[in-house]
Amino acid sequence: MRFNYWQDFLSLVFPETCCICKRSLFPFEDQLCKICISRLPLTDYHLLPENNDLKTKVLGLAPVDKVMAYLRFSKSGMSQKILHQIKYKNKPALARLLGQMYGTLLKENGYQETWDLIVPVPLHQKKYRLRGYNQSEELAKGLASALEITPANLLLRMVPTQSQTNKSRMERWENVSDVFSVVDPGMVINKKIVIVDDVMTTGATLAACAQTLQAFHPQSIDLAVLAAGK
Ligand SMILES: [Zn+2]
Repeated sequence: MRFNYWQDFLSLVFPETCCICKRSLFPFEDQLCKICISRLPLTDYHLLPENNDLKTKVLGLAPVDKVMAYLRFSKSGMSQKILHQIKYKNKPALARLLGQMYGTLLKENGYQETWDLIVPVPLHQKKYRLRGYNQSEELAKGLASALEITPANLLLRMVPTQSQTNKSRMERWENVSDVFSVVDPGMVINKKIVIVDDVMTTGATLAACAQTLQAFHPQSIDLAVLAAGK
């Protein structure tokens, strides 16, 4: 009981705030307020996963079937704020929550048995140590719990990738095409895999992950990201 009083006192003095709008959260809210949740820029890629502009982006680079994103990315929009929080503001729980929300949506749309394995895009060990967590892994954990599948850290990032920002499409592809390896190749054979990342811009990183896994004969490879833009 004493613990609860203390918690109540703390939340009066330091109320938890919404990760997007910074308004104080009610006790029944977690990470995001109900208003921000209702305004999330949701997409409907999951309704047409094999024929959309995201798939067109990666099709020339890797053999993927379904490609989808939970949120529409726009600079200075809500998804940008969320990405910033999960990447740079020490918010692994927010990444897990969003993964869970996406997983719930996908489950409601018939995706419960679509995948055997959920594989996050890995961070290089150095970056992982600096950040303390991998936001894509946290997203994958949330997705996996909603869809009742075990997440599998099957990929390893061998070399730290340089910043992609000032590179052309071809340069970006060359920058990532040899950086991943598979931890346990035996687990890939004949599996239906979805690779998970926080954001998809050119799709080069995700395509490189897909290619790396493809070498070990999975049944299919799909891509699901938190946010993507045109
Ligand atoms: Zn809010």
